[in-house]
Amino acid sequence: VLWCSFSAFLPCISVLGGSISGLRKELVTSNAQLQQVLQQVTELATHDELTGAYNRRYLLEMLHHEKNRTDRGGPSFCVCLFDLDHFKQINDNYGHAVGDEVLKTFVGAVQPLLRTTDFFARYGGEEFLLFLPQTSLEMAQHCVKRIQDALAVAHFKGLPEGVKVTTSIGVAQYYLQESVESLIERADKALYRAKQHGRNRMEMAPFHRPILL
Ligand code: GH3
Ligand code: MG
Ligand code: MG
Repeated sequence: VLWCSFSAFLPCISVLGGSISGLRKELVTSNAQLQQVLQQVTELATHDELTGAYNRRYLLEMLHHEKNRTDRGGPSFCVCLFDLDHFKQINDNYGHAVGDEVLKTFVGAVQPLLRTTDFFARYGGEEFLLFLPQTSLEMAQHCVKRIQDALAVAHFKGLPEGVKVTTSIGVAQYYLQESVESLIERADKALYRAKQHGRNRMEMAPFHRPILL
């Protein structure tokens, strides 16, 4: 009797094993899909859709982390606020799609010049914020100069030969206990001066307190 019941039960076990194996395969597939969706969500939450640069929210989060680190005795850092010059004219003269292309090319030209620890974000419209951890004002100046030089020889799709895209930049170094908002405001004021003094140039924000580096 035992043998007969075992023989009758065996196919059931085999069918059950088969369906468990099927379920396991489905689980592996949906796990992979979930992972992919998670990656896409993370990308969307941290990056600008058009240019692929970091977005403003993520950069501000990183700046707050760095501010806390510096206030606890870590090295200082700099921010550089970029604003493309006469960008409205590019849109008006060559169309919005070309304007979009210029923004993408600008980001593509800047990114290879940065260290893996730097953060470059689209701050809004045609404004970009570069965050340089563990960087003095002098080092930040060198970095911005490299970017300006690269822009001078970059080719922008959709723009006639000889039409150059330039940017004005405000650079500020963090001083102890300063708020992130005040730091960016100083960079913004320096940027404003760069615009006033003729564009395609950088201006340093003056600082008022000792800086640790
Ligand atoms: P300035 O040198 O003083 O900065 O002049 P500007 O023309 O760059 O400044 P303004 O603020 O007058 O114009 C910015 C323009 O950027 C206006 C807006 O239509 C354009 N813009 C903002 N975001 C985008 C975008 O995602 N794509 C395109 N194509 N244009 C954009
Ligand atoms: Mg602007
Ligand atoms: Mg502009």
